[in-house]
Amino acid sequence: MIRLDNSFAALPPQFHAPQEPARVPEPRLVKLNEGLAREIGIDPADLTVDVLAGNKVPEGADPVATAYAGHQFGGFVPQLGDGRAVLLGEVVGPDGVRRDIQLKGSGRTVFSRNGDGRAVIGPVLREYVMSEAMAALGIPTTRALAAVTTGDLVRREGLLLGAVLTRVAESHIRVGTFQFHFARRDTESLKRLLEYTIARHYPEAAAAANPALAFLEAVIQRQAKLVARWMQVGFIHGVMNTDNMSIAGETIDYGPCAFMDTFHPDTVFSSIDRQGRYAWGNQPQIAHWNLAQLGSTLLTLVDRDADKARETAQAVLDRFPVLFSEAYHAGFARKLGLETVEKALVSDLLTDMANNGVDFTLFFRRLTRMVDGGDVEPVRTLFAHPEAFDEWLKRWLQLGPDAAVMRAVNPVYIPRNHRMEKMIEAAERGDYAPFERLTEVLTRPFEARDEFTDYENPPKPEEVVQATFCGT
Ligand code: AMP
Ligand code: MG
Repeated sequence: MIRLDNSFAALPPQFHAPQEPARVPEPRLVKLNEGLAREIGIDPADLTVDVLAGNKVPEGADPVATAYAGHQFGGFVPQLGDGRAVLLGEVVGPDGVRRDIQLKGSGRTVFSRNGDGRAVIGPVLREYVMSEAMAALGIPTTRALAAVTTGDLVRREGLLLGAVLTRVAESHIRVGTFQFHFARRDTESLKRLLEYTIARHYPEAAAAANPALAFLEAVIQRQAKLVARWMQVGFIHGVMNTDNMSIAGETIDYGPCAFMDTFHPDTVFSSIDRQGRYAWGNQPQIAHWNLAQLGSTLLTLVDRDADKARETAQAVLDRFPVLFSEAYHAGFARKLGLETVEKALVSDLLTDMANNGVDFTLFFRRLTRMVDGGDVEPVRTLFAHPEAFDEWLKRWLQLGPDAAVMRAVNPVYIPRNHRMEKMIEAAERGDYAPFERLTEVLTRPFEARDEFTDYENPPKPEEVVQATFCGT
């Protein structure tokens, strides 16, 4: 039996709406993440296909769709909420961590607006592979516990096979959850949400002189670190709306996200991001902006005096660029096998990589192999015009880079876009072999394996993926 707890569902009715998952005609298991199930304290045998498809609500569950708002591409929407997901409940793992179990793609809810409440096989497997790859890379993220198909055909561009992802998260509380209650001027609920969130994710803030402020600062710290981690692996979230930013500091809501191959800071894949708002290099500014929205919702809880509240919250928010820069440079120092790094060494390298269209992942991996006793040529050939690189290399080698440090942080394998695309195409035809292989290779991203050398390579020109599409 799954021992479900329902602390979020026990919050007052403003926070959610009761919601049973929809029944589906012909549920089939695509993948069950048994290792994760055990890690979080669930016996995999209890995760039957009927439970994972939403056809059987586990005993003790109190399923709800959660309420939230959000800024989408800068425009505020006062009510979004789970339009195609239900929170089944929470489990507390052997590590003492409480985690949400959510079914995504489980049918319409009161928050569905015009949506059908469904998910389809491609985006479900994209989220499965991406989130598990991020976890294996050591980056905070929601996890994928299972993927099932429903037997329903769902209308998108054509008819596609319906699917449900079982998602595990430290919680599904978003910046947009705070915005929801703030927009309704419901200070009581905001206060309640803050207490709940502090107790669940930031217990140390409860003891601070000003818990709301300590909470804001702690969230800022986690987000600064998270976005820095994304950038160090070339990850582009794609839809950093405030409803897609987790308060617990996990990567959440994998839609048109992607890892870039060729390095350029302006890289964007999402088909809906025409302005490049969420480009690789814009992610820190956007995170900062999102956190400022969180700050706005907390002002009345920071201080009764509105001016003082604004001033103190602003001072905390102003720390974001510094915190981000520290995390970013500490991460690039490790990628370069150093303890600390001068900012110019990183920016000069990245500028040169962008100018030469160098593959981000291959570069750091080949550089690692070079320090490990390999040849410089495989690195050098990545640059069409290697002169500036030669100069940079001299500067860097003088600092005595450590190969072991580099090996631990520079992945051999990332979920390359063209692989993801092929995996999705195959799955749509009912062939899950590429999905299985991709999942397998990405479980140990730092370890080169002979049978997977193909997966290291960037796309051939004809394989390059120009745009990724939303999960919807
Ligand atoms: P997303 O872009 O997936 O982060 O979703 C943004 C909002 O749209 C959230 O409130 C979702 O619940 C909702 N949404 C996305 N897809 C659907 C769908 N197929 N049916 C109903 N609501 C959806
Ligand atoms: Mg979302």
